[in-house]
Amino acid sequence: MIIRARTVVTMDGPPIDNGAVALSGNKVVDVGKFDEIKTRNGGEIVDLGERALLPGLINAHCHLDYTCLRGEISPQKSFTDWIRAINAKKAKLSSKDYLTSIDEGFAEAKRFGTTAIANLTAFPELVSQITSPIRTWWFAELIDVRAPERANEIVDLAIESLKSAQNWGLAPHALFTASKDLYRHCEEVAPQKNIVLTTHLAESREEMEMFHEGSGPLYEFLKRIGRPMDDCGNETPLELFLGASGGRGLPRWIVAHLNEIAESDFELLERSKRQFHVVHSPRSHAYFKHSRFPFERLHSLGFNICLGTDSLASNDSLSLFAEMRAFQRSEPGISPDEILKMVTVNPAMALNQENTLGRIRPGFCADLIAIQSSEHDNPFEHIVQFDASIDWMVVNGKM
Ligand SMILES: [Zn+2]
Repeated sequence: MIIRARTVVTMDGPPIDNGAVALSGNKVVDVGKFDEIKTRNGGEIVDLGERALLPGLINAHCHLDYTCLRGEISPQKSFTDWIRAINAKKAKLSSKDYLTSIDEGFAEAKRFGTTAIANLTAFPELVSQITSPIRTWWFAELIDVRAPERANEIVDLAIESLKSAQNWGLAPHALFTASKDLYRHCEEVAPQKNIVLTTHLAESREEMEMFHEGSGPLYEFLKRIGRPMDDCGNETPLELFLGASGGRGLPRWIVAHLNEIAESDFELLERSKRQFHVVHSPRSHAYFKHSRFPFERLHSLGFNICLGTDSLASNDSLSLFAEMRAFQRSEPGISPDEILKMVTVNPAMALNQENTLGRIRPGFCADLIAIQSSEHDNPFEHIVQFDASIDWMVVNGKM
């Protein structure tokens, strides 16, 4: 099959006017000018007219469990209050509610042009009941704050639940809810199973206060529920994370947030040259009024930075286009093609899929979307500004 469009944005070279992509099964086999593609390849021609064709978008951080909580929790005075509020909402939800929530989340993500998603779920045992309409990395979100002695067992049970999933990984929730042993066990398992790991790190001022100062609302809240607090009052969250991970496994980590980085943390990163992947969620970040995300500094240290929507408990849609625009408002100096990389090429690399996803290139997966074209001079700017539903998509070669 040949798909022709007014512009093909491959993310693998300059956009191609009057371009085309040849597909065979679930793979891209050729891409270039329509005339050349037509001579080199046979099959049915689908003409998308004036539309722009681009790689499907990849959401690097999401929790579809909470799609049903859109608009349910108003911004709270503190991050700790928000945790209390979402816990109260979660207590009222059943497995059936979560299944519906996840299905609705998939439908919405797809409507906004997302063809692959890194989705954290607190309920890995439900995954075998779900058929995902897009490419999904299921990350089991793991918490052992009330039972740190069960860390290994919690990890192993989650792995067992995810065995039917095509793509999966593990997500120790955060340093304040998952023990060092739990992180360590995930790191041991990751190379054996060849999986990616993800976690929330240095998200809020309260997390920094808890670990570095040994005080504050998050510290008090967790102490009250019985968390051992002997790792508090000394190191920053980043120092603790780097200490817990030992370093070798770092390239497998996709770290969400990283808003609270001390000057000493930057020095540590610079000195140690240690890197992992980072996900920023601009609209969820704005909802929480977190400290400014240090994009420029992390970028100049060479970190691979992606965008994600986070959950609808702190965001109002699963649109990565809206996420790109929110990012552009806070970082107006970053070019729109760099921003588009943050939802295509960069998350593909974070998921260890840099040779299969994120670009339109022969041999890559046929995950494509099309959007209405405009007279915009810069096709990348046009894509970032796109503010509608997607009406044409191919996922894994299927229209
Ligand atoms: Zn999250």
